[in-house]
Amino acid sequence: MTPDDESPTPPPSLPPGARPLTERVSKLRARFRSDFFSVVPEDLENYGKDWSGVLEPAPSAIAFPRSTLEVSDLLRACTELGLPVVPSGGRTGLSGGAVAARGEVVLSLEKMNRMGEVDLASFTLEVEAGAITEAVHEHAKKVRLTWPVDFASKGSSQVGGNLSTNAGGVRVIRYGLTRNWVLGLTVVTMDGEILRLNGALEKNNTGIDLRQVFIGSEGTLGVITEATLKLSPLPDDERTRVCLFAVPDFTSVLELFSRARTGPFLISAFETFSDPCLQEVVASGLRSPFTTRDAGAYVLLECEERDVESMEAWLGEVLSARHGEKELVLDAVMAQSSRERAEFWALREQIAEAILSRGETHQQDLSVPLARLGEFFAGIEPRYRSAYPDFSVFIFGHIGDGNLHIFIRKPDTLESAEFHRLCAESDIGLFELCEANQGSVSAEHGIGLLKKPALRYSRTPEELAYCRALKQVFDPRGLLNPGKIL
Ligand SMILES: Cc1cc2nc3c(=O)[nH]c(=O)nc-3n(C[C@H](O)[C@H](O)[C@H](O)COP(=O)(O)OP(=O)(O)OC[C@H]3O[C@@H](n4cnc5c(N)ncnc54)[C@H](O)[C@@H]3O)c2cc1C
Repeated sequence: MTPDDESPTPPPSLPPGARPLTERVSKLRARFRSDFFSVVPEDLENYGKDWSGVLEPAPSAIAFPRSTLEVSDLLRACTELGLPVVPSGGRTGLSGGAVAARGEVVLSLEKMNRMGEVDLASFTLEVEAGAITEAVHEHAKKVRLTWPVDFASKGSSQVGGNLSTNAGGVRVIRYGLTRNWVLGLTVVTMDGEILRLNGALEKNNTGIDLRQVFIGSEGTLGVITEATLKLSPLPDDERTRVCLFAVPDFTSVLELFSRARTGPFLISAFETFSDPCLQEVVASGLRSPFTTRDAGAYVLLECEERDVESMEAWLGEVLSARHGEKELVLDAVMAQSSRERAEFWALREQIAEAILSRGETHQQDLSVPLARLGEFFAGIEPRYRSAYPDFSVFIFGHIGDGNLHIFIRKPDTLESAEFHRLCAESDIGLFELCEANQGSVSAEHGIGLLKKPALRYSRTPEELAYCRALKQVFDPRGLLNPGKIL
């Protein structure tokens, strides 16, 4: 895959009289212990890329620091030698944010994955940034708590990556974004300065909150090395229900959503996917509980019920409801066991992986205010159907957050370059539609390299100028994650 951005970003500025990259990398390696770096070809390949598959990875070395102090030493040394650095988490990003394609040093947080004891009075947990998201869940679960940052890539993504992308996911409708679930951050700047921001304070009204500047900045301003996470009580398992609905079309999804909003339960996820998405996960080996072939879309609802009777009454109502000329719901199933719950969730969670693993794919991740979702969606599918009839289009997302993922598979008949040219062309209309509906061109996957050309549809030139000024403050030589976002 190639990035949409046709104009390559200029390399970061080097010190006057800078020596060739290989020489500077050798000098860097000589300053650290022998197992601090890897230059093994498989490591250079693996750690130089992310899930976006964008660009050929070509880092010069992979660094594996084991503490905040070591990160500080590394960044200071890289600054002295004028070496660009790419912070790297679980590399599950879908926008090329962790890609190192121009001889950068990759800073992997992988060896910094220690987790402390859960503080049961304050519901907090101190972790290093390389802790795997799912490992944090498992750790907190032992004391019936959770870190409610949850999505399909949680088995590989890291806390540092989640914070740097301000990740969303399947439970945003109930808990909000990652930003809401962190109290303190330790961040190292490119000149090796260690900033300890906010500690474990819930309340701290002492002016500008620098923590928030680093969250979501995709490793362009500083490297997050430690965090104090906020935890939440685990939802009541006995009362948790997972239901799947087969509905005629996307407008029925929205009608079902507005009925669920006022239903007798607390929604923890309201996800949707189109029929081609279901067919894709079924082709990858999962079983669909539905026999109907008339459904255009599906909904996964997870909620905590108040009581069985009111939940059943609500289900009875929506099952007999009509939406315009059609039935609102064509079929519905409620999971009867935890195994069935996991099976239903797998149908939703494995969509991205199933699509990405079965061919070259172009993807977008857009959001619009909920009130605009119907209009926005109505504009998407017909465009592809008329202008690009050969494209296989997969639409799924987090409806409660107004967030749709649109994945397009390359038809066999098209060469890769032509496919990406057509995608870039079709994206313009999509971004304009998004802009017209006051939406965002990247709901949760960040900007990285891939979404750079789209940024102007969601951020004004004035805002971008302030973002550039902020980058100058923290990284004046442009050595940290160069070419990403801005
Ligand atoms: C199957 C699948 C499903 C997904 N579903 C979702 C979803 O529902 N919601 C969602 O939000 N995302 C989703 N993603 C995207 C991705 O998993 C998230 O963006 C995740 O938060 C990235 O974490 P990571 O550790 O893999 O980060 P990486 O991909 O390694 O890095 C992401 C960015 O953060 C920077 N970075 C990483 N670690 C640090 C650090 N310690 N300090 C500073 N910068 C750092 C990198 O340089 C890069 O710019 C999905 C991805 C896949 C493959």
